[in-house]
Amino acid sequence: MDDFLKQLPKLAKDKHNENKKFFDKLKKKTPKNLDYIMQDLHDEEFERTDCLTCANCCKTTGPLFTIADVERIAKHLRLKPQKFIEQYLRIDEDNDYVLQSVPCTFLDNDNYCMIYDVRPKACREFPHTDRKKFQQISNLTLKNIAICPAAYNIVEEMKKRIP
Ligand code: SF4
Ligand code: SF4
Repeated sequence: MDDFLKQLPKLAKDKHNENKKFFDKLKKKTPKNLDYIMQDLHDEEFERTDCLTCANCCKTTGPLFTIADVERIAKHLRLKPQKFIEQYLRIDEDNDYVLQSVPCTFLDNDNYCMIYDVRPKACREFPHTDRKKFQQISNLTLKNIAICPAAYNIVEEMKKRIP
């Protein structure tokens, strides 16, 4: 996994134009069963890929925190929401709450999430490859494949299954 993670930014860059073309075409001509195809590809990939050997998303990017995330996690940590924000979050250029620093403070040394049961919605959904109407999040996916080996593999497999 480590070697793959090291190579991933370059692999994603090398594939960028090809992937962009593929997603442009997918938007124009979306298979009727795309949601099913994506669910299959996602499930197959995550049977092979163990996030505990990776945690690259938690180490390099971190999620956005919604107000509901802040309230839920603060309650879990027995902090007031405002105190949680002051201690762990900042506001980014898009006006969203994000982590003050990465790797995420809540990632332990064995790649476990210390707040797994109450983690942000964005963490639960990342890398969004089982999302309905997947063709609508192509720009996000083009970014995510440089971070997430599973997303990279899923897009490679998509190109084979949807010629
Ligand atoms: S979601 Fe992707 S980047 Fe995050 S730990 Fe799993 S494989 Fe790695
Ligand atoms: S909250 Fe948990 S899942 Fe989300 S980035 Fe931090 S360690 Fe990873």
